Amino acid sequence: MSAAQKSPDSASSIEAEETPPEQLREEYDQLVEDVRRYRFAYYNDDAPLVSDAEFDRLFRRLEEIEAHHPELISNDSPTQEVGGEVSSVFAAVEHLSRMYSLEDVFSLDELKAWLERTGVNAEKFAGAALAKNPLRWLAELKIDGLAVNLLYRDGALVRAATRGDGTTGEDITHNLLTIEAIPRRLEGDPGSIPAELEIRGEVFIASEDFAALNEEKIAQGKAPFANPRNAAAGSLRQKDPAQTALRKLSMLVHGIGTREGLVAQSQSEAYELLRSWGLPTSPYAEVLTDEQQIFEYIARFGEQRHDLLHEIDGIVIKVDDFATQSALGYTSRVPRWAVAYKYPPEEVNTKLLDIRVNVGRTGRVTPYGVMEPIKVAGSTVEMATLHNQDVVKAKGVLIGDTVVLRKAGDVIPEIVAPVAALRDGSEREFVMPAHCPFCGTALAPAKEGDVDIRCPNARSCPAQLRERVFHLASRGAFDIEALGWEAALALTQPDEPVEPPLRNEAQIFTLTAQDLASVRIEREKRGKERGKDSQGSAVTTELVPYFYTKGTAKKPSEPTANTLKLFRELEKAKQQPLWRVLVALSIRHVGPTASRALATAFGSMAAIQAATEEELAEVDGVGPTIAVALIEWFAEDWHREIVEAWAAAGVRMVDEQDESTPRTLEGLTVVVTGSLQQYNRDQAKEAIIIRGGKAAGTVSKKTSYVVVGESAGSKRDKAEQLGVPVLDEAGFEALLAGGPEALQETAKESENQEKEPM
Ligand code: NAD
Repeated sequence: MSAAQKSPDSASSIEAEETPPEQLREEYDQLVEDVRRYRFAYYNDDAPLVSDAEFDRLFRRLEEIEAHHPELISNDSPTQEVGGEVSSVFAAVEHLSRMYSLEDVFSLDELKAWLERTGVNAEKFAGAALAKNPLRWLAELKIDGLAVNLLYRDGALVRAATRGDGTTGEDITHNLLTIEAIPRRLEGDPGSIPAELEIRGEVFIASEDFAALNEEKIAQGKAPFANPRNAAAGSLRQKDPAQTALRKLSMLVHGIGTREGLVAQSQSEAYELLRSWGLPTSPYAEVLTDEQQIFEYIARFGEQRHDLLHEIDGIVIKVDDFATQSALGYTSRVPRWAVAYKYPPEEVNTKLLDIRVNVGRTGRVTPYGVMEPIKVAGSTVEMATLHNQDVVKAKGVLIGDTVVLRKAGDVIPEIVAPVAALRDGSEREFVMPAHCPFCGTALAPAKEGDVDIRCPNARSCPAQLRERVFHLASRGAFDIEALGWEAALALTQPDEPVEPPLRNEAQIFTLTAQDLASVRIEREKRGKERGKDSQGSAVTTELVPYFYTKGTAKKPSEPTANTLKLFRELEKAKQQPLWRVLVALSIRHVGPTASRALATAFGSMAAIQAATEEELAEVDGVGPTIAVALIEWFAEDWHREIVEAWAAAGVRMVDEQDESTPRTLEGLTVVVTGSLQQYNRDQAKEAIIIRGGKAAGTVSKKTSYVVVGESAGSKRDKAEQLGVPVLDEAGFEALLAGGPEALQETAKESENQEKEPM
């Protein structure tokens, strides 16, 4: 495969091909310098200056220029050597055989080309070996840690070193001895163990231990590690082994160096032997025979990426057969028989432009970072919560910093840490405002010693009202789809001198078209006028009508389709069951579980309001904290006015006991996973609860049934492991209709059908 094919950005590769070398010289020299500097910071200081994605991009550009203009290649080019140097902190040791890096590919197309090319080369160079042993691939996870080399002499561990520059590494024997997973002496028949054996592996911190380590660091007011790789590298390269011992480091084997006398034909066979000697081998390695299987492996682990023992940044594919590996050989940097497929990055660096505060539904003031928009894990991110001022402090981020931003899969984006080495002195500290930026009220903790600061103006702070309105429309409350965050903003923000349509959520059900006709909202307008966004295009804002169309002389302004939908949905929402009304009221601590329990126990809003603290606390699923919150909430006049106004508008405040639904699931706990045809998540939950069952989210021994829909994930496996019965949608229907007995009937019927002759 040519470098032109390899580049993720084909436009730039064409450019490199067509540009005369003199014009590329400056860029080339700069790239060599930058890559070397970034490598040093990464391997020797364990403090990267750029994200891996950015590093990979620069490295590729370097490879691309060199591929088209070999005359430019300098002796110190990073493409010609394995990254990392030996620091003066540790003694230098020479590896018996060289350690290598890996060639990277960033797409399935590139991987396909690599597999084809390697297949052809294998035929060419190892035809005889292949005749005995057709080409098979060993697929492994690319563990995000750091490489080490263990030297065993006559079965005893005598030395451990970092990879260093591949030839010489740092002696970290004492630190490595603190890792429990590594045997000091190999077990098994001494005759079968080579006199000299080099084991290559990755030292890492398991995901769970990493999360705990960072939580602890934050609690101590210290900056957290940016990622498990840095944590592992930093921990292993401590001067004092006692410090290393405090970190829960682990290791998995992924290679063998010097191995004279090792009786194995292939890498997978060798792993079996190593395992029998007590070395930690990966549970995830698989021998595969074709491209299809490799692509499936990549897809499978891409999905499970965050449910594994350790973090991974890709998949490594190796030719399994040792004879073919030898025939293919090495370049100066990488083996020709292995490749790393990298998943799209989940960690990037971006600029923290500002730290602002938001005021939540219960008045909690939350700082959040505003960043230069950046694409990470499939979406563009420009804001991320910073939770509270203690977190801002612990993370050590300053406004103006370059920060590491992480978004793992569907997880909420997180500002991990600053890249302190890139500061230029213009950065400034975040100061928590003394007054609410939305209503001007003085901010204070609810009680002394609380970390969280609150805006006490619950009744008329427009930010709190907006959040409550957004919440009352959410799927777990009134479920009003047409009332999203922007609509909630439009309904509650003042547009001086015009009052917003809602001064209070009490009026939500009595809104009229008239109230909405003149509401406007600020929208960004891209043009050439003034200001520039991060992509360099001009940005201005303008006020545009929100609930009504703009209107022209010919066509008068009229409600938008979404506004009409909003009125229809508001009407429908009045019929929602009592527990949803309770959720919609934004009473502290009162979520769907407590609301359901209250609705079942009392049956009406009036009865809940009339109940004493003791009566409320007695309800299963309520308890003393929620009881106090309810009493305090109903004590406020304006809160009771909301309930009265909603009731007057026709919102259902009483649950009629529906005797027609049989309580077929009494005493059963059911978990629903994956997507069903006839029910969304909430409807399935509701169906279980109204039949007397418990709808749970996690599978345990106490689970009675697990209902699996399409693309069900690990819950199904868990159910099978625990022996919990698994039902499909038809089984679920049968269970709802007739309980466990009905399931037995259905099972009998289908058994009989199977027995009937065709
Ligand atoms: P690499 O990380 O791309 O791949 C080689 C390494 O993968 C091996 O040395 C080994 O330690 C490891 N590995 C993990 N699992 C493995 C397995 N199952 N089989 C074999 N090897 C396995 O190469 P590299 O040269 O160590 O580092 C280059 C990468 O490191 C870059 O692509 C970049 O992501 C990162 N890096 C980042 C910066 C930065 O500034 N952010 C700087 C330098 C390097």
